[in-house]
Amino acid sequence: MSKEDLECSFCGRKKSETNLLIAGLDAHICDRCIEQAHGIVVEEALHADNSEISKDLMLKKPKLIKAFLDEYVIGQEFTKKVMSVAVYNHYKRLLQPKSDDDIEIQKSNIIIVGQTGTGKTLIAKTIAKMLNVPLAIVDATVLTEAGYVGEDVESILTRLLQAADYNLEKAENGIVFIDEIDKIARKSDNPSITRDVSGEGVQQALLKLLEGTTVNVPPKGGRKHPDQKFIEVNTENILFIAGGAFDGIERHIAKRLNMQAVGFTASLKENQMEKDNMLRYIIPKDLKDFGLIPEIIGRLPVLTYMNPLDKETLRAILTQPKNAIIKQYKKLFEMDGIDFEITEEALDFVVEQAIDYKLGARGLRSLCEAVLTDAMYEMPGTDEKTVEVTKDYAEEKLNKSTLKKLKAVS
Ligand code: ADP
Repeated sequence: MSKEDLECSFCGRKKSETNLLIAGLDAHICDRCIEQAHGIVVEEALHADNSEISKDLMLKKPKLIKAFLDEYVIGQEFTKKVMSVAVYNHYKRLLQPKSDDDIEIQKSNIIIVGQTGTGKTLIAKTIAKMLNVPLAIVDATVLTEAGYVGEDVESILTRLLQAADYNLEKAENGIVFIDEIDKIARKSDNPSITRDVSGEGVQQALLKLLEGTTVNVPPKGGRKHPDQKFIEVNTENILFIAGGAFDGIERHIAKRLNMQAVGFTASLKENQMEKDNMLRYIIPKDLKDFGLIPEIIGRLPVLTYMNPLDKETLRAILTQPKNAIIKQYKKLFEMDGIDFEITEEALDFVVEQAIDYKLGARGLRSLCEAVLTDAMYEMPGTDEKTVEVTKDYAEEKLNKSTLKKLKAVS
């Protein structure tokens, strides 16, 4: 075959009709077909619900991310939706093909405002589990500016490296959950009064990580191993999720809303607002009024909130999630060949106690433990093959437990 007779094995165009014809073993491909094929590869990567991308990274569409979250996290519909989109966009950003249209997708780091025990950490954990990426959970309260007692912000990345078994590539695509971000809010409006080592200084130090930069990270952490070799970690593709209770932020929100309501039917609005979870009206300015510096707020562009857990939600948390507490007990008993049942009334009772004790979702576990310890101690090895926990049974066990004392104090 002469050079001129060569054609693209995919579209059949003659060499003369193409800009470029590349030869393979016994086929040829033209520039157009290459571009088209590349498009298909990218499309596939983005749209396959379960495709394996950049090794272990699993990218699902927002609705599927939400469905996965639904299996573990009860309620919190708004946040689950917002997070699903943010996470999807974040990983889409990582996969964006290099293009010359100058549109650079910015990071979608997230900040979640909500009382403790409402599922902020749980959501971060669930997302990391779904994406199969390493997750580091760090507490902002232990962070201080470099040179002060406490941990440097780099320690966050040490944790992430550890969570990734020191696989740098995995760590650089991981998730960091920074808990209690509200505790590093600026304490006073006048930054010159004293050095604010645990507040604004830490925010400044964090800023660099959130922005995306290369950081020298001591792989074993901290100052105890001064001789270790640093590992360079690029934070550009790390997704940061910050969480905090922001106690009292409702006041800032209410103040702002009331100001806006001047001249309108303010009192009516107030009534309505009191019944609502105030946090749903939160905007970035409220975070600033609380003491976060504007730069940090700018680097956490996705702002969302958690609802307090009401009775129905607590009740659902006991039985519905994939690894719900009651399911876990059932399995534990089953392993001894024991059939475990708990009545509806008993479940209601446990929930009421959790509310009474002001323990929230975290308390459900301790309450169940107090109710079931005797059974778990006595039953294995006996001939009894069923346990039925009724409300009376639960009440009796709880009255005997040390938890009862907690109630007396509170
Ligand atoms: P936070 O980070 O907001 O303080 P966590 O995520 O640590 O709260 O929640 C504490 C525990 O309470 C979780 O491990 C989980 O068992 C339970 N929990 C809290 N909120 C929910 C929820 N919305 N759905 C299911 N479980 C929840």
